[in-house]
Amino acid sequence: MDKYHPQLELAPRDIVARAIVSEMELTKSTYVYIDITHETPDLIKHRFPNIYEFCLNYGLDMTTDWIPVAPAAHYMMGGVRTDMNGESSIPRLFACGEVSSTGVHGANRLASNSLSEAIVFGRRIVERVRSLEPLAREAHTGYASERIGAPAGKMAERRLKLQKLMVRFAGLRREAHGLTKGLEELRRQAPLYQTEMTTREEFEYANLLTCATLMMEAALMREESRGAHYREDFPDKDDLFWRKHTLMHRERGIGEEFIGDV
Ligand SMILES: Cc1cc2nc3c(=O)[nH]c(=O)nc-3n(C[C@H](O)[C@H](O)[C@H](O)COP(=O)(O)OP(=O)(O)OC[C@H]3O[C@@H](n4cnc5c(N)ncnc54)[C@H](O)[C@@H]3O)c2cc1C
Repeated sequence: MDKYHPQLELAPRDIVARAIVSEMELTKSTYVYIDITHETPDLIKHRFPNIYEFCLNYGLDMTTDWIPVAPAAHYMMGGVRTDMNGESSIPRLFACGEVSSTGVHGANRLASNSLSEAIVFGRRIVERVRSLEPLAREAHTGYASERIGAPAGKMAERRLKLQKLMVRFAGLRREAHGLTKGLEELRRQAPLYQTEMTTREEFEYANLLTCATLMMEAALMREESRGAHYREDFPDKDDLFWRKHTLMHRERGIGEEFIGDV
C-alpha cells in the first residue's frame, strides 16, 4: 500500500479499494492478500473473533495464514430523495435505509453510519406516519398504458449480465468511453418497459434496469472525482463546477442542487 497512500491500509476505503483493483490487474489475479500474522494470536482472536471463526470455517487460520480478499459493492450513496422525515416527493411514499438519499452522508459514507441512519430515519418515518390522517379514498395500482408481449429472456440470466455490466463500466474506476458503452447497452433494453410484466422477477429486473441507467447517466455526466465516484479521465475533485447533488426526476429530467441549498 505504500505505493498508494501514506496511511497504507488505513487510507480512505475508496483509495484502498482502487489500490487493490490495480494490484489485481497487475498480477492478473482475482484477489489480493491481507497479512495480519505480525499480530499475536491472542490479539487476533480477541479483536476479530467473528472474522477469525469465519476464516477457520474455510480452512484459513488468520494467525498464520494470509487472507485472500477482493473489493465488493458495499453501499450505494444516493437513492430515493427524501425529506428529514423519510418522505419522498410522492406524498405518503417513504424510503428508509440504503435505498434512500436523506442527505446525511457525503460522497463517501463513513463506516457504520448506514445502520445508525436506518434506525434514526426508521423512527422518524413511524412518527410521521402516525401523524397522518387516513386517506379517504382507496389507492389503485395498475399500468398507465397498454403493454404488449412478455419480457424476453430469463430474468436470472439478464440480472447476472446486468451486474457484470455495472461492475465493468460503472464500478470502482470509470471513464467516458466505458460509461457511454454501458449506457448504450442499457438503453437497448428499454423495450422491456413496454412489455406486460407479471412475475416478481420481471418487476425487480425492470427496477434494477432503471437504477442502473440512472447511475450510469449520472456517472457519465459528473466529470470529476469525489468520494467513491472515481473518473479516471477526470481524477481531480472540482468544487467549482461539481459541489452539488445530481437530482433525476421522471418528469423534470436531470437537475442539480448546490450544497447548502437544503
Ligand atoms: C459486506 C457489507 C458490509 C457492511 N458493513 C457495514 C457496517 O459495518 N456498518 C454499517 O453501518 N453498514 C454496513 N454495510 C451497509 C449496510 O449493511 C446496509 O446499508 C444496510 O444493511 C441496508 O439496510 P436496508 O434495510 O436499507 O437494506 P437491506 O438490508 O438490503 O434490506 C432490504 C430487504 O428487502 C428485501 N427485498 C428486496 N427485494 C424485495 C422484494 N421485491 N420484495 C420483498 N422484499 C424484498 C431483501 O431481501 C432485504 O431483506 C455493509 C454492507 C455490506 C454489503
